[in-house]
Amino acid sequence: MSDTILVINAGSSSIKFHLFEVGPGDTLTARLGGQVEGIGSSHPRLRARDAAGQTMIERDIAPSHAADVPNAQEVVGMWLSGHLSGVPMAVGHRVVHGGPDLSEPVLIDDAVLAKLESYTSLAPLHQPNNLAPIRVIRERRPGIAQVACFDTAFHRSHDALADHYALPERFYQEGVRRYGFHGLSYEYLVQRLTQTLPEVVPGRIVAAHLGNGVSACAIRAGKSVDSTMGFTALEGLPMGTRPGRLDPGIVLWMMNQGMTHDEIEHLLYHDCGLKGLSGIGNDVRELLASDDPRARLALDYFAWRVAEGIAGLGCAMGGIDTLVFTAGIGENAAAVRAAICARLAWLGIALDDARNAQHGPRISTADSRIGVYVVRTNEELIIAQHTLDRVRGR
Ligand code: ADP
Repeated sequence: MSDTILVINAGSSSIKFHLFEVGPGDTLTARLGGQVEGIGSSHPRLRARDAAGQTMIERDIAPSHAADVPNAQEVVGMWLSGHLSGVPMAVGHRVVHGGPDLSEPVLIDDAVLAKLESYTSLAPLHQPNNLAPIRVIRERRPGIAQVACFDTAFHRSHDALADHYALPERFYQEGVRRYGFHGLSYEYLVQRLTQTLPEVVPGRIVAAHLGNGVSACAIRAGKSVDSTMGFTALEGLPMGTRPGRLDPGIVLWMMNQGMTHDEIEHLLYHDCGLKGLSGIGNDVRELLASDDPRARLALDYFAWRVAEGIAGLGCAMGGIDTLVFTAGIGENAAAVRAAICARLAWLGIALDDARNAQHGPRISTADSRIGVYVVRTNEELIIAQHTLDRVRGR
């Protein structure tokens, strides 16, 4: 019976799970992946596929069995126990916040868990959900090693200047810093580029993670030097349902209008961005297919502000040599990539339309001053690798 690593990514409305088999030489092979989605909604569903993409299960769950993350975790645990040929050797978790100190994945013990709980105020919507499965597994299966991998960790290589807001210093000391997120995705990209395009890695890369969450990261010599996301995952580029950059005076205005903290928070996380601008939704496929002018407005806004964010990251590195698109929109939406690159033509980016339509990997012309690529991200794999490394004491 071979060893396995389970990867859990527990968000606010979904729990994603992936199982990797540990082979000779500690190679990792994906065996299955799935999720419970719609947690807390009236239509929660459980889906899982095997490594070949064949559906293993796809069914509705009673809302009472997926009212919250701990609840839905029972569903995942029950289903997995019928499909695992033994107990996993370790579980790796995606944890959004490692605070100012944690710059690497860590094996979880009581002290680490207490530290992670203390960061809840930095990410009140996400950190409690990330930690819930860790606690349940510690109670029920104390013998299983668990590793926390942080979305912020890759950005801890920022210097103090990049981590600051122009606020009085006491706020920085209290933890109000530009942490940056999507770090696991960026770390995977660097690893993948090292394997497939080693010549670009020593240079100045901007990676654009365009999924439901959207950010871009300046990477010099393989290390993050700046990110468009800061204190929370609200800052920077427009997203599926989050606005990105916003005049803070707008939030003050909303408060003056009588909106409560919870109403503003809900608006900013769930009803803005592509969804808010278009009035249609946050799925780029739907917006691209629509002839509603509001869909066009949303896509045009997205392309402009993402291009602006990419160009701005050049200031952190004195220029850009390579641009990499990743995540759901970045990997699949050729028209969006084309619109972003058109706004960056003044930087010397020239897109090869045929290659872009085929999703790369290289999508720029041979004489484009900046090489542009599409690389598929794999956050689960990087979590599994870190988890195995920690368990092996590496
Ligand atoms: P998450 O941040 O939840 O992991 P993804 O990286 O899966 O999200 O990105 C999800 C988004 O990617 C969807 O909302 C959709 O807008 C976009 N997307 C996925 N597939 C396509 C496609 N074929 N064409 C255009 N956009 C796509």
